Amino acid sequence: DFNHSPGIRRVLRETFGFHNFRSLQLCAINATLSGVDTFVVMPTGAGKSLIYQLPAVFEPRKLTVVISPLLSLSRDQVMSLLKKNIAATMLCGETSREDARDTLHAIRALQLRLLYVTPEKITKSKQLMSALENLYERDALGRFVVDEAHCCSTMGHDFRPDYRKLHILKQRFPQTPILAVTATATARVEKSVCETLLGSAASARHSWVRFRSTFNRPNLVYEVVAKSSAANDQFRELADMIKARFPRQCGIVYCFSRKDTEETAKALVREGIGAAPYHADLDASTKELIHQKWSTYSAAAASAPKAPRGTSQVQLICATSAFGMGIDKPDVRFVVHLSIPKNMEAYCQESGRAGRDGNKAHCVLYYRRPDVLRVSALVSDTANGDQKLLEIVRYCENVVNCRRQFMASVFGEPFDKEKLCQGKCDVCAASAHGNSPSYELFDASAH
Ligand code: ADP
Ligand code: MG
Ligand code: ZN
Repeated sequence: DFNHSPGIRRVLRETFGFHNFRSLQLCAINATLSGVDTFVVMPTGAGKSLIYQLPAVFEPRKLTVVISPLLSLSRDQVMSLLKKNIAATMLCGETSREDARDTLHAIRALQLRLLYVTPEKITKSKQLMSALENLYERDALGRFVVDEAHCCSTMGHDFRPDYRKLHILKQRFPQTPILAVTATATARVEKSVCETLLGSAASARHSWVRFRSTFNRPNLVYEVVAKSSAANDQFRELADMIKARFPRQCGIVYCFSRKDTEETAKALVREGIGAAPYHADLDASTKELIHQKWSTYSAAAASAPKAPRGTSQVQLICATSAFGMGIDKPDVRFVVHLSIPKNMEAYCQESGRAGRDGNKAHCVLYYRRPDVLRVSALVSDTANGDQKLLEIVRYCENVVNCRRQFMASVFGEPFDKEKLCQGKCDVCAASAHGNSPSYELFDASAH
């Protein structure tokens, strides 16, 4: 049903300033506007927010409620909506009493297009609930958006218990459509998100309309590199690689622990590379400064004759996996994993922060068997943690199959190796050169 398309296109141009929809955005917008429950899976950076922000503007007599796990993400979105003159605000634990009162008033007066809330607010605030019930009775509740919807699932990599309680949305507001969006694609996760949000009875009878875009990122080049056993060798090899292959280019190095981020950054700075650590223990102002320096870093400016020298700039961030949700820097040219991520979904999401601008970018994973044990200790008590970790191990130890193909199979996506990879992974590149990939690579690092 594409009835809404002409009006939607106008809002896209006039309010959002974009000229074209990206793949699946228009279909997903039409689906949710038609009132059906909708599930959208698209890689990070594909443009999922527009799918709920645009309908909110398109239906000016209704409120869109966005449930999002991260305050910082919601805050950024509210700021950018306000800049476009779209009435939006957020309610969270930190909201002052006066602000909350004003917001509740604005909700009832239908002065807001989008309201961002944490899941706790939905489940715990009686005042919010009664304001929403009031809108519901007036047919003025547009839709509930569950952003980062994989947080509903214990199978996902980022389970949040409060997301579980979101089953109350369908119970209390059965006529209000739900739009769930995520970058996590496996069928298991989808099933469990569906059961949480629509209820298990509903999922047997009818499910939601599903939009799933491809996870293949043609501009990313994937490779796995054998990792040395001594820390000093690891740092030197990393520094050499960055200097040789990514001079002055912007990057992210994912490390196993907070301590590792500090040590890696220090080692890189000693080598004259502008690196900084980023993790949860840093105070807020330090984090903000590092993030800001990195966000504004540009290879062109860094190459200019009068650019500040080397390590005073932040060319790359050494981070734990906590860094990244909502990172939207277009010119990240490489993402290195100095230790294995905990599963393929996490790897897809983290490595996917490279090359948002569509230009070529590299995803390099340093692998060494003993690292598997370290990560296993972290994930073995989560559901399917070890099983999912094993997928990453298979990805790394595989020397025969295309890495893209392997990822596609994990996400249940069909794949045509000849067409889709074209030598843009180390395995395909090696076989194109007639080299049989070397098994010794991994034997050497196994001890
Ligand atoms: P996701 O939530 O899928 O990770 P976002 O919604 O944050 O991605 O969008 C990523 C970026 O893409 C944002 O900067 C957004 O403005 C931009 N974007 C989204 N849709 C379009 C479009 N149709 N044309 C151009 N840019 C777009
Ligand atoms: Mg998003
Ligand atoms: Zn390949």
